[in-house]
Amino acid sequence: MAAVQLRAIRAPLPAAELDSFVKLTALACQMPIVMLIFPVQDSDGCGALLGMADGERYWQGALSAAITAAQERVQVADASTNEQLRHCDLVAGPPYIKCFASVPIALAGRDPAGVLAVADTLSKALDASQLEALELLARQITASIEQRSDLRELADRLTRELGELDGLRESQRILQTLIGNLPGVAYRCRSDLSWRLELVSEGCLQLTGYAADDLIEGRVKMAEIIHPDDLPALRRGVAKALKRQEPYQSTYRIQTPAGQTKWVWDKGCGVYSADGEVLALEGFITDISELKCAEERIRRMAYFDELTGLPNRLSMHEALSTAIARSGDSHAPLALLHVEVDKFREINETLGYHEGDRLLQALAARLQERGGALETLARIAESSFALLLPGQDASHAMQVARNVVQTLNAPLALGELLVHSDCSVGITLFPGHGNDPDALMRRANVARYGAKQGTEKVAIYAGSLDSENTQRLSLMTDLRHAIDRDELLLLFQPKLRMGSKRVTGVEALVRWEHPERGLISPSQFITFAERAGLITKLTYWVLAAAVRESYLWHDAGRAVPIAINLSPHDIRDPQLIEQISRALQTWGGAPDWIQFELTESCIMEDLAAARQVLVRLREAGFKIFIDDFGTGYSSLSYLRKLPVDYIKIDQSFVIGLGSDKESAAIVKSIIELAHSLGIEVVAEGVESTEAMDMLSGWGCEEAQGYCISKPISGRDFQSWNRAFA
Ligand code: C2E
Ligand code: CA
Ligand code: CA
Repeated sequence: MAAVQLRAIRAPLPAAELDSFVKLTALACQMPIVMLIFPVQDSDGCGALLGMADGERYWQGALSAAITAAQERVQVADASTNEQLRHCDLVAGPPYIKCFASVPIALAGRDPAGVLAVADTLSKALDASQLEALELLARQITASIEQRSDLRELADRLTRELGELDGLRESQRILQTLIGNLPGVAYRCRSDLSWRLELVSEGCLQLTGYAADDLIEGRVKMAEIIHPDDLPALRRGVAKALKRQEPYQSTYRIQTPAGQTKWVWDKGCGVYSADGEVLALEGFITDISELKCAEERIRRMAYFDELTGLPNRLSMHEALSTAIARSGDSHAPLALLHVEVDKFREINETLGYHEGDRLLQALAARLQERGGALETLARIAESSFALLLPGQDASHAMQVARNVVQTLNAPLALGELLVHSDCSVGITLFPGHGNDPDALMRRANVARYGAKQGTEKVAIYAGSLDSENTQRLSLMTDLRHAIDRDELLLLFQPKLRMGSKRVTGVEALVRWEHPERGLISPSQFITFAERAGLITKLTYWVLAAAVRESYLWHDAGRAVPIAINLSPHDIRDPQLIEQISRALQTWGGAPDWIQFELTESCIMEDLAAARQVLVRLREAGFKIFIDDFGTGYSSLSYLRKLPVDYIKIDQSFVIGLGSDKESAAIVKSIIELAHSLGIEVVAEGVESTEAMDMLSGWGCEEAQGYCISKPISGRDFQSWNRAFA
């Protein structure tokens, strides 16, 4: 009789083998009924039955008998009297089994996988040789299954590995396509002096102007393409990184065979042997010439005055800082002249702006002609110039000032008109009149007021003129108490998402409610708090006040992040991070309650320290804004190295947007620059819907300014926000 096979697909052995095992068991044990059953959890199990006509009908009964017997050997002469078995279908019903013996089929480390059982409808006991045969066959079946599962595992592994190999080939193909289509070049080169390429992607020709083969076959060496001025620094950078087994990145110029110079950004790393020897360099080179151009344009615009071509106020500030540092070392005095074209506004209004511009250009040219090589000349405001004279004392400075007045006041032909301009010059000297650029520039202007009153039109700064200074001194004492007495006040100015017109956050702006002088704006006390060493205290106050306000907003169910302005001193404050987390802990706040704004110049003052703080703030989950972008260095290279979420375009560019082409060009360049680095842009000082539309058109993401809302109290912001939404 043939064995009945059930659920053979999931059987641990093929059908033919199950078949021969049950037949062999019937023969060896001399028993009419054989069951080889593998129960499967939550299913009908599988296996083979022999000796039961219409075996499939008895399958469920056989299965339950097998499960009952599965744990241990069973040997009964009459199952109908056996406590365990008498309720089983095959015993209680047809075919009314009596004699029953079973052996579990146990696989290593697993529960019994199945049962081999023999039975008879007659009551009798199996003898020792029958039982031994049953045991032997069960072991044989076990061995057979284990061998097969080893084979199956091997087959599975092979299939898996083949699959992985296919996947690998596929990802290699995708990688090739990606690299081939990227706007740059992926490479692998030798780690020797020539940097000879071993592999290079398709973009090579477009980037370098040389075919990949020329470079790979050594007709042209990578080191020869790189601009000789940039090569030594590049070599040093790469060598340093390789020594530490770190990735390198560098910005340098390459020269194409057509004589073109391109700026590229190269990021790569060494390939090392097991004992640390550098086998090759692998990396990616991107063309950043356009970005460099934009950066240069912004830099030029930031440092030079478009009308006269002279350096601007910012340049003068920097030149003065450098000169002060040098003079400080050599103890040589230094003079600064503030030259004012008096009544320029009247000239402008009577002759028109066009003539006014020409007058300024002509005066600038005269100043330039008379100046010595060592002097620095700049246009620092609409009608003011500044002259920096290194190594000059008071009497020499007076002489130069008189000479300047004489030169500028000489009649000037503007078309058919002869214009007489009136100039006055104020002078400050380092170190006598101050030891920082701001003080020297401010006091030179103060001295200039005096000069204008006099007949000579030239004056050196005298302390008494600076009433502003004494005022400041008394303010400084007051500020110390103001913080303790809670005379400070936080206002909030909303920021808006361009597309959705959703309020994305606010900026916290501090005010001082002076008991006698009334509301004092931060521009009048922040710099000064910095110098007086009070800024840390002020920042902590702002931090605490902002988090407390955020708590109120969260409590009212409508909160947005509050951005806090940080000063250069804050960057160097080792307690800053701890103070921030304390403030949040106090009110049960989270990092998305507050954000931080840092100006470019604040970052550049101590790039390493700033980077460290920014990285820690970012890791802690705070968003970071670069404030007043465009007025400082606007340097691509530092931005790339910093963890920054947004840049805020300085309001000086945004306010002029409607009327000033130059501002528009700067703003557009900044937006492009930021986007190319994956950084979003906020425009501040948006005063008109016209400016808002222009910015939105250029892809600027967010806006802040009077056109949306002036800075307002926390309570007012809540109702404003409710009305706005
Ligand atoms: P900021 O960070 O650039 O802040 C923006 C300034 O622009 C604010 O002046 C704001 O009132 C003003 N503003 C906003 N929208 C417009 C607009 O559409 N048109 C014009 N013309 N101005 C607009 P504010 O409040 O006088 O603050 C001046 C500066 O003082 C701030 O410049 C910031 O550098 C500093 N500051 C304010 N609060 C703090 C503070 O809590 N900590 C620190 N360290 N600095 C602060
Ligand atoms: Ca700010
Ligand atoms: Ca700003």
